[in-house]
Amino acid sequence: MNTAATILVVEDEASIRNIVRTYLESAGFTAVCADNGLDALKLARQHHPDLIILDLNLPGMDGIEVAARLREESDVYILMLTARSEESDRVAGLRIGADDYLTKPFSPRELVARVEAILRRARAVGPMTPRNVFHFRHVTVDADAHEVWVGKDVLSLTTTEFSLLLELARHAGRVLTREQLIDRVWGVDFYGNDRVVDVYVGQVRRKLEQATGETLIQTVRGVGYKFSDEQA
Ligand code: CA
Repeated sequence: MNTAATILVVEDEASIRNIVRTYLESAGFTAVCADNGLDALKLARQHHPDLIILDLNLPGMDGIEVAARLREESDVYILMLTARSEESDRVAGLRIGADDYLTKPFSPRELVARVEAILRRARAVGPMTPRNVFHFRHVTVDADAHEVWVGKDVLSLTTTEFSLLLELARHAGRVLTREQLIDRVWGVDFYGNDRVVDVYVGQVRRKLEQATGETLIQTVRGVGYKFSDEQA
């Protein structure tokens, strides 16, 4: 039953990484391994794993940041590995959206059992449905329908304006830089002046202001833009 599932193992200690890989493979999983956060993100994009086993204590980018970045991109299941002393990290990890954790030292057999349990639960609730409708106090952004609602009215936006607002709304409360917005809205092969972002943000902000009477997109000087409507 596990033959199709791919597990990404992120652990800098080679001995633990290897034993986890061995146990996963003998249980029928495909294991992909990384020893640092950046490689983990790269492999996650490449292999679309079903579950990620993530050590929190990594050199460089730590596990909490890796988990946060993974969460921006997908709903992949995350099983954290923590030391007994890392209580606060564990709490942070669960808050960011890790699904389960194991405290070191752990039995590899137990790890495999946890992985199987998470995937069994996943199958029981069916495929993950992406969170595609974002409800805020003043607006609702429906990514599936490509519509923005203000009360009972649809806000008229161009395709680019909509994509821009969707990106900002997905990351509500967090600042996105011009570069991030260009990558996600115009695509990484965009050539041109990044001030184009300012122009489009200005248009979307104006339309939102006219419809709601509120400034919902904030300029964070020297950094970028932030969507600041409260989550409903
Ligand atoms: Ca470690």
